[in-house]
Amino acid sequence: MDNKRHNLILLMGGIFTTIFIVLGTMSYNVRINDELQALTMTALKEISLKQQFILNEDINSNSELLNLLATTVGASSNMDIETTLEYIDIVEEISSFKHINIVGVDGIGITANNEKIDISNEPYFTEMINGNYISNIITSSFSNEDVIMLSIPIEKNGEIQGYVAGEYNISNLESLLTSAFDGQSFIFVLDATGAIIAQHTNELTQPKVNMFEIFKDQDLTDKVLDAIQKGESTNVVYTFNEDTRIGEICPIDFNGWSLIYILPEQVIDDYTQNIMEQVNLFTFGMVIVLVLLVFITSFAQRNTFNTIRMLAYYDELTGLPNLVKFKMEANQLLVDNPDKDFSIVKLDINNFKAINELYGHDTGNKVLRALADVVHTDEIPNYTYAKIAVDEFLLLGPSEFFSDLSNELSLDENKFKEAVSFIPFHHIKLIYGRYKIEEDENDIDKIIAKVDIAHKTAKSKKNIYFCDYDENFKKTMLKAAEITNKMEVALEHKEFKVVLQPKYDTITEQPVGAEALVRWIEDNGKMIFPDEFIPLFESNGFITKLDKYMLEEVCILIRQWIDNGITPIPISVNFSRVHINNPNFTSEIKAIIDKYNVNTKYIEIELTESTILDNESELKTIFENFKTSHLVIAMDDFGYGYSSLGFLKDFDVDIIKLDRSFFSFDADNERSRIVIRNIVKMVKELGVVVVAEGVETKEQLDFLKSTRCDMVQGYYFSKPIPIKDFNKNILGADF
Ligand code: C2E
Ligand code: CA
Ligand code: CA
Repeated sequence: MDNKRHNLILLMGGIFTTIFIVLGTMSYNVRINDELQALTMTALKEISLKQQFILNEDINSNSELLNLLATTVGASSNMDIETTLEYIDIVEEISSFKHINIVGVDGIGITANNEKIDISNEPYFTEMINGNYISNIITSSFSNEDVIMLSIPIEKNGEIQGYVAGEYNISNLESLLTSAFDGQSFIFVLDATGAIIAQHTNELTQPKVNMFEIFKDQDLTDKVLDAIQKGESTNVVYTFNEDTRIGEICPIDFNGWSLIYILPEQVIDDYTQNIMEQVNLFTFGMVIVLVLLVFITSFAQRNTFNTIRMLAYYDELTGLPNLVKFKMEANQLLVDNPDKDFSIVKLDINNFKAINELYGHDTGNKVLRALADVVHTDEIPNYTYAKIAVDEFLLLGPSEFFSDLSNELSLDENKFKEAVSFIPFHHIKLIYGRYKIEEDENDIDKIIAKVDIAHKTAKSKKNIYFCDYDENFKKTMLKAAEITNKMEVALEHKEFKVVLQPKYDTITEQPVGAEALVRWIEDNGKMIFPDEFIPLFESNGFITKLDKYMLEEVCILIRQWIDNGITPIPISVNFSRVHINNPNFTSEIKAIIDKYNVNTKYIEIELTESTILDNESELKTIFENFKTSHLVIAMDDFGYGYSSLGFLKDFDVDIIKLDRSFFSFDADNERSRIVIRNIVKMVKELGVVVVAEGVETKEQLDFLKSTRCDMVQGYYFSKPIPIKDFNKNILGADF
């Protein structure tokens, strides 16, 4: 999964989670709102009932005390004044009543302080007489406070003798009212008409306000009155000062009074709101925690994911994409840009193994990193690259970007060389294969296979560092693979045969030597010519074995001739330039010749001219060694594509073989004749034997005769022939 997809999934997940939580919270809010309202109502009811209980308790216990006083006074006819006053004192002490007095039916009596009192003119006295023992609110004549007078008749023998009357202070009643909901509730005690008797509020200061009037709703008032009559509680909802209020009314055990406990709706709302805010805050916190968790997990996951991704898609050493990643990117590039012209390049470091072995792995890694640096560039659009093996890189991009690649010039080799300049004396060469991707071609595996072939071809060739793919490569490669598979066995089975092509004395036209050439004759009799396998053997190193094998076969033959009394003629054996790098080259040749006890004068070692030009210093040593070992050196293919006269002064060569391309001139090309004639003349003056190769016509022979060329070799006299034929036809021997 790539980063974009991962982010998208993460984002979607985040959005869904948030939506889920927000919706959940919303529906939860609605539900909890209803629930909280209901809860508040229940709480209101419970609180009002509790308040009712408190008031009832107080009123009942106080009344009971007053009642007890009245009964006691009434029961003892001869109670002295002292005792009576003492009783009043006690009741005042333990009850809520103040200023208890005892009066006769005429309204005249005494107070607790034994003062005379006359209440006959008080309105409440009239009420008392009329049997109404609870007065309206009056102003106390003693304290100037709002009180109600409560009176109990003193009866004796069924007749009212007088009254015990006490002031019940409204403030006392109010002190019993306890507010809830952080003091935002109101409590009123109403009388039977709805008038406010006592209150616990800071809002309504006039106790005379009538609650029923405030309701402004007869139905509601009726409902309340009905409930009070039945001794039940009921709830009310009304508006006051444009403020909705919710209340609970319950009756108290006193004179048709009732208690109303009120909460402004706003308070309930605020209260619920507050709880909801806390809930929401908690939920929000949860969301944050959840989101954080998701991110932390995803981050951790991403880290693991990135590590796995790194391992799966990138090269550990250089951080460059690997083959898997390259294929994905390359494929995308090709699909996205069908109109563009793309090329793919594969490159590696020539003989990287040697760098590792010579300078150590750390240096090897440094080189690879430097190369990765060159390969990795952001300057080119539509370009991708990868490190696909230890020192192998693939690059794919616009064809024009790779158009400068050639034998000498490569990607940005200067930058690379600068980066690896810490390696002294070692010449680091890059080898390139290139394939121009065809239109509509986007099978990346096939494309890579093709550039691979181009790269392998470049690698297989000496002094070639760059190669383009062409369709024939595949066939060549397959064939090469086939040959490589069977060469070792072929050598064991002696499938490689020596054929001999005689060399003739130019003047006498008698055979004076021969060149040994290899033929591969398979078990099925099929003959393969050296052009098909020599270049391959040179690239895979097998040629060193083959050449020594050929030398050995030639030595065996010469030994045979000698043993059969035939005077041998010298045989030249071809040795590839690959041997030049072998420091034991000379001694190994000498050992083979000595093994068959053959005089070195019968063996000539043919080396090609290009060998000599490429490896001057190595070759100098070989020439010296050859001289001391009395080995004969022939310079093969002289003049082929090289102007190489210069080497003659430095190298003490025995024989020069003029390449057959020298003689492919027109019969009347005088200039060529002059050149050849003078070369031969000069070479002969140096004491070097001259052999002309590829002589096919009488005309060529005649010309060579005129140049005093020593020997001729070519189809004019003989093709390379099997040993058997050579023995018989050339040497006249019948074995
Ligand atoms: P070369 O050493 O230059 O050998 C001469 C090639 O020219 C031989 O081809 C020979 O058959 C061919 N030739 C001779 N006379 C004529 C002629 O009049 N006209 C034409 N057109 N060709 C003529 P061959 O045998 O196919 O060998 C090709 C090359 O293979 C040789 O070129 C040599 O470089 C290499 N080779 C052959 N045998 C060996 C070997 O045992 N070891 C090594 N290292 N290379 C070998
Ligand atoms: Ca040769
Ligand atoms: Ca030759």
